[in-house]
Amino acid sequence: MRGSIFSIQRFSIHDGPGIRTTVFLKGCPLRCFWCHNPEGLEREFGVQYFSNLCIGCGECARECPTGAHALVDGLHVFSREGCTGCDGTRSRCVEACPSKALVLTGRLVEVEEVVAEVLRDSPFYASSGGGVTLSGGEPLYQRDFAAALLSRCMEEGVHTAIETAGAYPWSWLEGILPFVNLVMMDIKHLDGAKHLKATGMDNGAILENARRLSHTGLPLILRVPVIPGVNDTPGEVSAIRDYVRLLRDEQPAGSSLSFELLAYHPLALDKYRSLGRENPCERLAPLSGDRMLELEAIAQLDQD
Ligand code: SF4
Ligand code: SF4
Repeated sequence: MRGSIFSIQRFSIHDGPGIRTTVFLKGCPLRCFWCHNPEGLEREFGVQYFSNLCIGCGECARECPTGAHALVDGLHVFSREGCTGCDGTRSRCVEACPSKALVLTGRLVEVEEVVAEVLRDSPFYASSGGGVTLSGGEPLYQRDFAAALLSRCMEEGVHTAIETAGAYPWSWLEGILPFVNLVMMDIKHLDGAKHLKATGMDNGAILENARRLSHTGLPLILRVPVIPGVNDTPGEVSAIRDYVRLLRDEQPAGSSLSFELLAYHPLALDKYRSLGRENPCERLAPLSGDRMLELEAIAQLDQD
C-alpha cells in the first residue's frame, strides 16, 4: 500500500515521549492561518521554489514542457499558473535542477519503505521510551495507509503515536485506534464561530472526538497551540482547561489524560515564499515568555 508524505524526521523530541521518528502525511481539512507545514496541506504534489538556492542555469526552462520556467535577463522566473505538474508524482524541472532550488512537496511511499526507515532508530526508541509518530497534515486523511503503517510498526515492537487535529467523523479514528499507543489532539478553541474563523471548520467533530477518545482508556494528550489574537487570553485558556477537566473527571479509572499549551513560533516564512503564497503570519509576533508562563499556570489541571 502506498501513501503520500512530505517528510520523515528522525530524532524528533517534540512529537511524543522519548526520541521518535515523525512521519508527516499529506492532506488536511483545516486551514489554520498559522500552519507551520503549508507544503502538507494538499494531497497533490506541487513544486516549491527556493530562490536563494537558484544558480540561474536555466535547466528547468529547458526541461519544462509548458514553459512555466524562464530566464529573464539572467534571472529565473517561475510562473506557477503555467505548471501542469507533469505526471503528479515526479516533475521534470525538479529532476533537472542541479542546486535543489526546486523541490516536490512530497512523495509516494510504500508502507514497508517507511517501516524500514523507522526501524533504523530502534535502539534509540528502546533507550528513551520513544517510537514513531504520524503527523501531517492530518494523518487520518490517509487512514488506510496510516493504519497499515502503524500496525506494522506495532508488530515490530515500536511505540506508536498520532498527532491529529480531530476534524473528521469518529469512525475514522475508531478504525485506527487498535494500532495506536498514544493520541495527541489539538483543541484550538471552544467557541465554534471563532474556531471556524481561525481554521476554516467549526469544532463540533473535534470536541466530540476528544470526548469519545477520553472514554477509550488510551493515553491522551490534549494540546492548545496558543496563537496571538486567537486563543491567548486567560479566559480562553481557562475555558479549554475546564473542558479538559470535565473529560478527565468522567474517565474510567486508570485512564491517562494530560493537557499542554504549545507556544506559537513564526517558523514557516521560507516555506510560504517557496510555494508562492502569502504568509498570513508574516507580522505575527510570538507571545512573550512571561505571558506564556501566566497561561501555563492557568492551564494546570490540578489547581483552581
Ligand atoms: S512540474 Fe512539470 S509542468 Fe510544472 S513547472 Fe515543473 S516541469 Fe513544468
Ligand atoms: S534549474 Fe534550478 S538552479 Fe537552474 S535556473 Fe532552474 S531553479 Fe535555478
